[in-house]
Amino acid sequence: MLNNVGRPTRPDAANHDDLLMEETFTGNKALNLETPLIFEQGVKGRIGVDMAEPRAIKNRLGGLEKSEDIGLPDLSEPQVLRHYVRLSRQNYSIDAGFYPLGSCTMKHNPRINEKSARMKGLGDIHPLQPVSTVQGALELIDDLAHWLKTITGMPAVAMSPAAGAHGELCGVMAIKAAHDAKGENRSIILVPESAHGTNPATAALCGYKVQSVPARKDGRMDIEAFEAALSPEVAGVMLTNPNTCGLFENEIKKIAELIHRVGGYFYCDGANLNAILGRTRPGDLGVDAMHINLHKTFSTPHGGGGPGSGPVVLSEALAPFAPVPYVVKSDEGYSLQENVTGSAGKSFGRMKTFHGQMGMFIRAMAYMLSHGSDGLRQIAEDAVLNANYVRVGLNDLLHSPFDGICMHEALFDDSTLKNTGVTTLDIAKAMIDEGYHPMTMYFPLVVHGAMLIEPTESETKETLDLFIGSMRHLIEKAQKGNDPDFFTQAPKYSPRRRLDETAAARKPVLRWSKENAA
Ligand SMILES: *Cc1c(COP(=O)(O)O)cnc(C)c1O
Repeated sequence: MLNNVGRPTRPDAANHDDLLMEETFTGNKALNLETPLIFEQGVKGRIGVDMAEPRAIKNRLGGLEKSEDIGLPDLSEPQVLRHYVRLSRQNYSIDAGFYPLGSCTMKHNPRINEKSARMKGLGDIHPLQPVSTVQGALELIDDLAHWLKTITGMPAVAMSPAAGAHGELCGVMAIKAAHDAKGENRSIILVPESAHGTNPATAALCGYKVQSVPARKDGRMDIEAFEAALSPEVAGVMLTNPNTCGLFENEIKKIAELIHRVGGYFYCDGANLNAILGRTRPGDLGVDAMHINLHKTFSTPHGGGGPGSGPVVLSEALAPFAPVPYVVKSDEGYSLQENVTGSAGKSFGRMKTFHGQMGMFIRAMAYMLSHGSDGLRQIAEDAVLNANYVRVGLNDLLHSPFDGICMHEALFDDSTLKNTGVTTLDIAKAMIDEGYHPMTMYFPLVVHGAMLIEPTESETKETLDLFIGSMRHLIEKAQKGNDPDFFTQAPKYSPRRRLDETAAARKPVLRWSKENAA
């Protein structure tokens, strides 16, 4: 007999030993409902909506007509609905629980943002409408640009990049364009060891050789090594501040001065702006380009929740190369600069269609307006306070590789797990059973078995206390070592047990067929 997931059930299971004692006949676990792949549910000829035959229309597909069955499943309407509702209930999200992912700033998405983005005059417009009919939308983009420039102390901003990584691409393309304009063909970008993977990836994508700069014992970039690596071949440095160890790069002004001395540019990865919002202005630190993840600091939804948005603030030196289009304000109202050789200079071109992620601009603007300047500053203060609360709540059990107060995230290594047989991965899996999305693990790479925890400002003291309590419970359990299966078996209560992540990456099954379903 087959259960809901098409696997043999207990009475006639071929792989009996693989089944857990607590497995049910249906595969459901109480209200945690299983759902087979939608392709497995299809039954030929089943129908959702009975549509009338279409009127004869002129064929404009020009040979692109469907010529054979493409294998879509036939389903009833309730089947489709249940399938997606069940899947959505298996999602873990910031609306369901605490999400302590380091380096990602997973904070609450206020509902006023959502309501604003759905307002008729904003939600129902199209970027191809005549400019005269979307003056309000352009004003909003211009206002948001103004506040981003004010917050960062930078003179210009490119609004169109669609994510942090896309913003990095924009910034490095501007750096390349600036060197090109001077007739220079530099080949190297310096990237510290602790950098987010997108930094070296961006530099490589733009054709640069990536040269890694080691970290010092205190978790900051090694300035001597940085200085030694500088040469006229260096196009720029990509540095994250606060960095991915959760630390402020306190020699940042010196770094800016040194890179400028050799004619290079300073790209600052601003993904962690949440920690310094209203407290420190990158423009005062000598930064030339920095992306701002609206989906981190300014609370717009991440990933599956909606597109990201990564505006890039630019210095005087790089502003002329900013991508088009951008909004221009004049006495006649708002218009768009679409030409690469516009009034401001020589743009390197276009990052994407239209102006960027309008829905995210509205949400970010709503967030700024609902906080005000004092509220925005308090975000950074509370985020840093919460991270340090977690740090202090755990640091008698977990070892912090770097001394002292952290910024927005608390970083621990796995030295306390030594000789327990339990790994950072095991702790992360056990956290799933405790009802948490695991923290970031094994990143940054400079810390062994890293656990990187960013609570953000939006969590209450009670949430943090419960989290600290459950982390302490797990670490103490690992240290006692009297229940070895506990960790290797985790997660026990999730819809799927521990997956073979290596096989999933090396032998991905991307196309469903009857054969590979078996
Ligand atoms: C999130 C993040 C990025 C990438 O941003 P995306 O919007 O995910 O592309 C880059 N650098 C750091 C430090 C980050 O935390």
